[in-house]
Amino acid sequence: SRPPPVIRYNMNNITATADPEGNRENILLLTPMARFYPEYWANLLRLTYPHELITLGFILPKTKEGNEATAALQKQIAKTQRHGPARDRFRSIVILRQDDEPALASQDEGERHKLANQKARRAVMARARNALLFTTLGPDASWVLWLDADIVETPPSLIQDLAGHDRAVLAPNCFQRYYDEETRRAEERPYDFNNWQDSEVAQKLAGAMGRDDILLEGYREMPTYRALMAYMAQEGKDEKFEVPLDGVGGTALLVKADVHRDGAMFPPFAFYNLIETEGFAKMAKRLGWQPYGLPNYKVYHYNE
Ligand code: GDP
Ligand code: MN
Repeated sequence: SRPPPVIRYNMNNITATADPEGNRENILLLTPMARFYPEYWANLLRLTYPHELITLGFILPKTKEGNEATAALQKQIAKTQRHGPARDRFRSIVILRQDDEPALASQDEGERHKLANQKARRAVMARARNALLFTTLGPDASWVLWLDADIVETPPSLIQDLAGHDRAVLAPNCFQRYYDEETRRAEERPYDFNNWQDSEVAQKLAGAMGRDDILLEGYREMPTYRALMAYMAQEGKDEKFEVPLDGVGGTALLVKADVHRDGAMFPPFAFYNLIETEGFAKMAKRLGWQPYGLPNYKVYHYNE
């Protein structure tokens, strides 16, 4: 029998351009998932980027909750890939189960956001993201879209809109819809505080820290005076308006695959006193890729 054929990829033919659809660019859409939300899947199905150019990758913890999420995810995958209309079907789908401990025993919002739990939790999340990235990033991906499992609403043209900026790392602004008991109206509030521009105060704080300590954003106990993209949104203003960022979150983030190929990953340790997605932004920057954000282009996080 013959030996298997050799497959050659000319990496300079794999482009990441402002017209990804026109250039038939492959997207690797990666989601760490502790819980499955039907709204997340429904939103994926609504994405207008050609699904045959999208590969989905998931990593789920090996907990009871993770098992339930995996079962729910697989049910939806079977529906879409086997029984759904052809245009809904994605190119391929990979599911990984985490081989280390889950980020937290309880996944409730209050418990997740406690300062004392942050370093260990963010380190586990970083490992999960790295495992997902390094096992799924093949030679033909142009872009990696990070999208958390609790992002339940984005513009359907999310991929085209973000890629259109032709930035190496680009974060939309992540908000949360809620019902305001006082005004009795549907309102929205900022959710992801990890998209920020650095401040002198934060730099000084980091300078006085031990090398294994990390700075965190959004905690009263640790005021950083960074400029948060979450608060830069302006009602009715240009959705294309860009700001440079020093830290990014992972709720929704478009990255040129070459940034990851260069070695930018999610440090599960203190890297310049930053961890996980914020450490990733720093690493990308050190590699020469400046991250940007879109204050007026919104995606929405589930409200527990
Ligand atoms: P928050 O919104 O900043 O509180 O962060 P989340 O708890 O929502 O976590 C971010 C993303 O990682 C979401 O998509 C979660 O479903 C997922 N996630 C949370 N914990 C774990 C974990 O232990 N393992 C994996 N694989 N994913 C997780
Ligand atoms: Mn979340």
